[in-house]
Amino acid sequence: MVGGGIAGMGAAWALAKAGRRVTILERGELGRGASWAAAGMLAPAAEIGFDELDLYGLGRESLGLWPAYAREVEAASGESVGFDSAGTLVVADDRDSARALRRLYQFQERQGVPVTWLSGPEAAELEPALTSRIPAAILSPEDHQVDPRAVVRALAAACRASGVSVREHAPVVAVRGGEAPEAVLASGETVGGQAVVIAAGAQSGTLAGLDPAPPVRPVKGQALSVRMNADVSFGRVIRGPRAYLVPKADGRLVIGATSEERGEDTALTAGGLYRLLEGAVRVAPGVEELDVIETWAGLRPASQDHAPILGRSRQRRLVLASGAYRHGFLLLPAMAALVAADVEAVLSGEPSAIPPPFAATRF
Ligand SMILES: Cc1cc2nc3c(=O)[nH]c(=O)nc-3n(C[C@H](O)[C@H](O)[C@H](O)COP(=O)(O)OP(=O)(O)OC[C@H]3O[C@@H](n4cnc5c(N)ncnc54)[C@H](O)[C@@H]3O)c2cc1C
Repeated sequence: MVGGGIAGMGAAWALAKAGRRVTILERGELGRGASWAAAGMLAPAAEIGFDELDLYGLGRESLGLWPAYAREVEAASGESVGFDSAGTLVVADDRDSARALRRLYQFQERQGVPVTWLSGPEAAELEPALTSRIPAAILSPEDHQVDPRAVVRALAAACRASGVSVREHAPVVAVRGGEAPEAVLASGETVGGQAVVIAAGAQSGTLAGLDPAPPVRPVKGQALSVRMNADVSFGRVIRGPRAYLVPKADGRLVIGATSEERGEDTALTAGGLYRLLEGAVRVAPGVEELDVIETWAGLRPASQDHAPILGRSRQRRLVLASGAYRHGFLLLPAMAALVAADVEAVLSGEPSAIPPPFAATRF
């Protein structure tokens, strides 16, 4: 397994549970890439794009797997993953965004998404820290959240407990397909196995030897967290047009996230953080008074069509688990199961069962 983010750890754990011997080669420390930077929303309904129906279907399927998956990871690791099913409130903050929200609502209704249209006062009644000037909102009761860093810690513990061998500070520079596939470390050492899975997040396309290289690019996201207090707190995820606010059980409020095409750059910028705070304060003015805890940036692994890149590649015994873009946590249970099943299918010579819109061979 090349890469120890949630894509790599999820697939590694699934394979180890099925009795496979798995080694994770991670260039840094487990789970410190995009997976550490996420807000943890599991939100297929709130994030549905007008042209992303396949992805929405996979997201809903994965969301359905989450409650049992959370229980299983927690049992295997002894750590909570902070699964929270309080739902999501998508709010407008002016007349234009209210019109866009209405179009989203009508689209969601046509797709059979369980959502409720709320007036501004109804939204403010649910979440008193919102400004009374909110024009309208959509209540999306089935959009949930987890604590992403807790998931990372729990998955790492679950992997280790199930016998996955973890090698940190082991950067891979190249991979080779074939009957005896292998990964080549920067040190020159080669690590071979029956299959090599590339789960290197935004860097998945940069390994030498991939032909064709998967079209994955980094999309930078800046975010910050502030400390909620008795006057300014939220019971559920709030998604405004310019920023989202994700309340965590430990009192943090995660405010995110920018979406920037800047290659590998992870610098925090005044403008990026300013726009997030401005967007948060527009919907919840009290946020202005809250203490800042942390600021950070991460690189989402985005594919050309923004859908994940899963399963066998065109090269023998090289398998992909990448391209989860802004949905890696939402898609974790489904992706882990699909990738692990395709590794088994590759080893036993069976055809791929990866749905065509997500198959690595579509590129
Ligand atoms: C600001 C932000 C907010 C987000 N919010 C959400 C959200 O609310 N909900 C949601 O579902 N998703 C969210 N996401 C997306 C989610 O974080 C990603 O889709 C997911 O974490 C991707 O996981 P990954 O394992 O593919 O990548 P990563 O977590 O980046 O893991 C890849 C790993 O591979 C390692 N690696 C790279 N190159 C090599 C190499 N050559 N050799 C060895 N190891 C290598 C890296 O060090 C890294 O640890 C968010 C992302 C960002 C940035």
